[in-house]
Amino acid sequence: MEIKQAAKDFFVNQDIRSQAIADLAEIIEIPSVASAAEGIYPYGKECAKAIDKAAELAQKYGFATENHDYHCMSVLFGEGEEEIGIVCHLDVVPAGDGWSVDPYKLTVLDNILMGRGTHDDKGPFIQALYTLRFFKENNIKLPFRVRLILGSDEEVGSSDLDYFVKVRKPPMFSFTPDSEFPVCIGEKGILAAEVQFGDLPENILELQGGTVTNAVAGKAYAVVKTEKALLPAENIFVFDCDKGVKIEAVGKACHAAMPENGKSAISMLLGYLIDNGILPQESYFGFLRTATEEYLGNSLGIAASNADFGYLTCVGGVIEVRNGKVVMHFNIRYLPDDDYRVIMANIQKSVEPFGGKAVVAEQSNGYFVSADDNKIKALTDACESVLGIECKPYTMGGGTYARWLPNTVAFGSAIEAERNYLGSERGNAHQRDEYISVKELFAGMEIYSQALANLAELF
Ligand SMILES: [Zn+2]
Repeated sequence: MEIKQAAKDFFVNQDIRSQAIADLAEIIEIPSVASAAEGIYPYGKECAKAIDKAAELAQKYGFATENHDYHCMSVLFGEGEEEIGIVCHLDVVPAGDGWSVDPYKLTVLDNILMGRGTHDDKGPFIQALYTLRFFKENNIKLPFRVRLILGSDEEVGSSDLDYFVKVRKPPMFSFTPDSEFPVCIGEKGILAAEVQFGDLPENILELQGGTVTNAVAGKAYAVVKTEKALLPAENIFVFDCDKGVKIEAVGKACHAAMPENGKSAISMLLGYLIDNGILPQESYFGFLRTATEEYLGNSLGIAASNADFGYLTCVGGVIEVRNGKVVMHFNIRYLPDDDYRVIMANIQKSVEPFGGKAVVAEQSNGYFVSADDNKIKALTDACESVLGIECKPYTMGGGTYARWLPNTVAFGSAIEAERNYLGSERGNAHQRDEYISVKELFAGMEIYSQALANLAELF
């Protein structure tokens, strides 16, 4: 196909490649971690600087831009009644410790480009911008307008896209390069539920497990008053302290979307306290022990599965004491066709016998598009044609930017075979030494160009 060859020729050009890397370096230099509003900047000055820089880069190549009051911005290309959207974000997570290079200066090595945001999601912004350059500079017309939407609040709450929907009509179809190739055709719904139980028993002075509600708890502890001599056990540590005896459980933390990789320290701790006669099994503690040990929602009466998504998952990520009452936080990843209100009702029914009261803390809908949809096929085909490998659309439990805008799927730009240059603990999104590989950067541009060309054939 002629587009394929033209895109290949364009992105192999040394000038284009050096310009792309230089542009990426300029945007990486801005530590655009979203922060509190400052004047007209809803996510702080650094996020606003990133928006201004992106506008400057886009205008340099002759594109029109729109600033949506620093919540997000648009880069526009072409004409047409309908729009196709590409959605990226310019905010990043904090750099964190342990980098081997300066996180806010692009480090260019032979095969990888390192810096905070290279992979998530400033590199993908450059990929999208250069995809538009390809069409513009080769005078290739598309039957729709392309709107590249650049947000500033993906990592915190995605309220940037809520704002976009208020001020502009969402494109008829969009993809977000904020995940992995090929195409993510479905994400589970996410429900954070808080269940409040009764008073903390008198013999328990402190109780706390987990640090974030969307992960399996890696650590949990209790301080108890007891006359009994308590012995340590596997991954259970016992110390005397001022107030009494402190018991610490060490499990294995992992993300709530993939709970099969973890082991709940909360369940281990409650199990130990029950088995040693400190807490009664016939109480909400016995219930919570089981509910945090398993992760399929059986205890809460909400288990479900289907062929596209596999199982609903349910992680009791945090246990804490609030105003003297024990509160358990559950993070549930449910099948997008199910109604979260029905799930909540079932949870309430399950916790009621133990005096529990369940409330919604947070909820966001998932989505599902059939792999047979012709737009999905257009994206998948682009991926196969450029990478030369068979690509199968996937679903997942993790949430991406796609869920915040109607008719949007996640599409790239990570290429699995390119993600392991620094091992599994370094180099990926949110990790130290984050990178995008040179191959990912330019192959992604070819894929996005081909994808738009394929979509054009549907018009
Ligand atoms: Zn991202």
